[in-house]
Amino acid sequence: MKVGILTIGNELTSGKTQDTNSSFIARRLQAQGWQTSIIMSVPDDEGAIKTGLNHIMSLADAVIVTGGLGPTADDITTSAVARAFGLGVYTDQAALKHIRDRFEKFQLKWTANNEKQAHVPEGAETIKNPVGMAWGYALKRDGKIIAVVPGVPSEVKRMVPDGVIPVLKKEFKDEAGHVESRTIKLSGITEANVDQLLADVDFAGLGVNIGFYPNFPEIQIVLTAIAATEKAAKESITAAEGRVSEILKQYIFAYDQDTLEGIVAGLLTDKKLTIAVAESCTGGLVTDRLTDVPGSSAFLERGVIAYSNDCKADLLGVPEDVLKKFGAVSEKTAVSMAEGVRRLGKCNLGISTTGIAGPAGGTTEKPVGTVFIALANGTTTFCRHHNFRWDRRRNKTMMSQAALIMLKRYLTGELEDER
Ligand code: ATP
Ligand code: MG
Repeated sequence: MKVGILTIGNELTSGKTQDTNSSFIARRLQAQGWQTSIIMSVPDDEGAIKTGLNHIMSLADAVIVTGGLGPTADDITTSAVARAFGLGVYTDQAALKHIRDRFEKFQLKWTANNEKQAHVPEGAETIKNPVGMAWGYALKRDGKIIAVVPGVPSEVKRMVPDGVIPVLKKEFKDEAGHVESRTIKLSGITEANVDQLLADVDFAGLGVNIGFYPNFPEIQIVLTAIAATEKAAKESITAAEGRVSEILKQYIFAYDQDTLEGIVAGLLTDKKLTIAVAESCTGGLVTDRLTDVPGSSAFLERGVIAYSNDCKADLLGVPEDVLKKFGAVSEKTAVSMAEGVRRLGKCNLGISTTGIAGPAGGTTEKPVGTVFIALANGTTTFCRHHNFRWDRRRNKTMMSQAALIMLKRYLTGELEDER
């Protein structure tokens, strides 16, 4: 099945907002084994919306539309879609009740233009919105489906997988077959290397399509299999996944919806371990990511941003002569920071980062992108050294990634004492 995506909004065509809805939707479609044949963005303009719809319908079996379902005068998607197909518009009472209930729940002041968010073209089937105001809807025209949802990315992320894809599946079930997909997340390797290392694997022979998606700081591999039965599709995925893990095992850190911080948090919680973080170059990013996980108070005791040498010395107890002799960016300093913060927090573990994010501050010996990461457990202090090659922000992101990867490897028993 071929699907087209139409994103609507002046903010998209003026360049103010980047169209992230399309990439999210296209990935979801790919996971279903469907092809995205076109992605198009148009302004909030009736003529442009009609032209866009017609063009996409000439290329695809279904169109997913986002944006312009809001209450304001510039949100015209529903009336434009309805007129494009010669349909009237009515107020859907269930959708209206949902909006009124949300106004009450959040104690918002009702204005008449909000009723517009419950407008639906005649003959459309509504799609519920569990996280926002306007419901979406799906229409069938000339054997094709047109599904419309609001533009807010968090709403798209719920409504497309839970509402739109099931409608498309129901409509096109005969030709679809059974689809299975698996996302494998890797870190510490480039996309080109992944591609090269997997070049000899015959994925097509296994009945699997493979896609690579760099999603900084990770790389994602998406395996998709379509087969007549669920069992056959699952077997293909298992075989392909087995080949990928054989070759790339050391770089794989998560699957599907799992995140690195989520996995680390799960391991710390299961093992009933507590941790304190001392960050210099990452400026709090490691702690930020750990606190993204609900329930992080079970394992995170504190995060200290020890940016200056004074703080490293005063608060974490890094000896002045270590700072003087080896410098703030050194193995000795990283080790001392990790041990210091662990002591300070009275935790099982202490982890630290110290490095040069750039663009200035590099030397021949310690170029921009250098980072030392140490992990102390009271008996052993591990230290790792990396050299990243990005701009300041991405170096910081990579450094926090490396710290969490190191922590995960420690918790799974894969971190050897190499010092
Ligand atoms: P609302 O009911 O919230 O008004 P809407 O359907 O009218 O929803 P828009 O007004 O078009 O949605 O967009 C709401 C928000 O979502 C805006 O902040 C907009 O920048 C953002 N947004 C809209 N379309 C996209 C897109 N394709 N990619 C990323 N962000 C988007
Ligand atoms: Mg809009």
